[in-house]
Amino acid sequence: MFEKILIANRGEIALRIHRACREMGIATVAVHSTADADAMHVRLADESVCIGPPSARESYLNIPAILTAATITGADAIHPGIGFMAENAQFAEMVEEHGFTWIGPTPEHIRIMGDKVTAKQTVVGLGLPTVPGSDGPVGSLEEAVEIGQRFGFPLLIKAAAGGGGKGMKVAQDVDGLREAYQLARGEARAAFGNDQVYIERYLARPRHIEVQLLGDAHGNVVHFGERDCSLQRRHQKVLEEAPSPGLNATQRERVGSLAAETARRLGYRSAGTMEFLYEDGEFYFIEMNTRLQVEHTISEMITGIDLVREQIRIATGAPLGYGQKDIRFEGHSIQCRLNAESSVTFMPSPGRIEGYHAPGGLGVRIDSALYDGYRIPSNYDSLIAKLIVHGSTRNEALMRLRRALEEYVIGGVETTLPLHQRIIAESDFLNGDYDIRWLERFIARTTG
Ligand code: ADP
Repeated sequence: MFEKILIANRGEIALRIHRACREMGIATVAVHSTADADAMHVRLADESVCIGPPSARESYLNIPAILTAATITGADAIHPGIGFMAENAQFAEMVEEHGFTWIGPTPEHIRIMGDKVTAKQTVVGLGLPTVPGSDGPVGSLEEAVEIGQRFGFPLLIKAAAGGGGKGMKVAQDVDGLREAYQLARGEARAAFGNDQVYIERYLARPRHIEVQLLGDAHGNVVHFGERDCSLQRRHQKVLEEAPSPGLNATQRERVGSLAAETARRLGYRSAGTMEFLYEDGEFYFIEMNTRLQVEHTISEMITGIDLVREQIRIATGAPLGYGQKDIRFEGHSIQCRLNAESSVTFMPSPGRIEGYHAPGGLGVRIDSALYDGYRIPSNYDSLIAKLIVHGSTRNEALMRLRRALEEYVIGGVETTLPLHQRIIAESDFLNGDYDIRWLERFIARTTG
């Protein structure tokens, strides 16, 4: 087992990883920018190293600084968390070349799945259904128009290097396609330095269903059921639940085993998630994230398994030690992402926390690095807390969520907490009757 792990991240996810390490008796090294000197992930870690100025490019993305921090502190392994270096295959390779263990999938799998065109082609080869569209990258406007005529509209142009909904544009007709094609390429070039795009049919009212997977270095793969992440704004997840209220037992079993079987054929190691769109009884693979996800928590709540601990065990070369039939699914879990932004205009609201009270009680979990007096820097993602509830039924989980949201006090900044209160008062949500566009329709209707 490792004695010391460097956590190459910040905020709630750095804390989340620290907690797993602590329970396993592993010492932790925090890295931080100058903007995060007072951050909770730094305070709780056994050791910390400042790796640069506030700009993420010069700190959390600064490979030499991170590797130097691991060397001087004598860390055995590096956990990248979520975002920043987590899906950087070259970094994963460098970590190993410098004699540290990379807590994550093989660089090869990160590379395959990091390019969504290659990812789609790979899983099609392994028998997974995908959204109909271009077979590969679309290199010219003429080719895009030809695809438009072949598949019909609406179409979605997506960036091969995509993430966070960037470089994604909908086209309603040929004229729209001409414009969207150029816009998507420009956005992809700016965001990822890679302007390759591909085209998919734009599904009208799908649900976003994803499957949490874990594979070890010995060819064993299990799944932890699905998560419904259909509640999105600008292709970004807002609230997630597991299991999905939109699937029955047969569909659930089908998507779980489809994903696990594909990952087994890939020889996938560590935690990963296969994302699907689900419409009219069909699942379509859209992408695989080769890392832990923000919403891994709800899968933990319904299975009782600590996914970060499992990632760490797997990285040591240990076998999973259990099979699919040993994973017991219990109850229902919901996660609300709380961002430091206005719940009406969604403008960022960084600043100092004045007054903080987190809810507690049975079935309530908070993953957050907030504390009273903490100053939220403006340099990073606006996610500040995850409120997660668990209940034996969906109704019980909802009941707990309602009262936990009422109890939660985050003073001094605006947060999206009121948005969650509005969502869970809606009958469509209560009935589990929503698709990936429901939330945007709801926001448009209620905030004008
Ligand atoms: P990213 O990596 O940028 O998050 P994804 O491929 O995961 O991109 O898609 C993000 C979201 O965009 C999905 O959850 C879904 O809401 C929407 N989306 C993606 N592909 C399609 C499609 N073919 N039709 C309709 N919506 C889509």
